[in-house]
Amino acid sequence: MRNVKQGRQGKQVKRKRRFGAGIREQTQCRFCREGTKYVDYKDIDTLQKLLTHRGKIFSRKRSGNCAGCQRKVKTAIKRARFMALLPFSS
Ligand SMILES: [Zn+2]
Repeated sequence: MRNVKQGRQGKQVKRKRRFGAGIREQTQCRFCREGTKYVDYKDIDTLQKLLTHRGKIFSRKRSGNCAGCQRKVKTAIKRARFMALLPFSS
């Protein structure tokens, strides 16, 4: 018996090859692509794109961020919320 998991629409999950044949795959994360080292909490336009209209943070899968950048975004959004730049909920 085969135990093959398929996505809802039959999508196949992409797998990154990190050390394959010298060809480096393009980084998917928007912050890594731009070379951002620090996500500014005052940059509301950028952060707003990573929030739902109710003010929830998009998941890593949805936003396409890598783990490190998602962590930076999370900190930035929470700082922005505390400074009343972004809503906790709406
Ligand atoms: Zn990244």
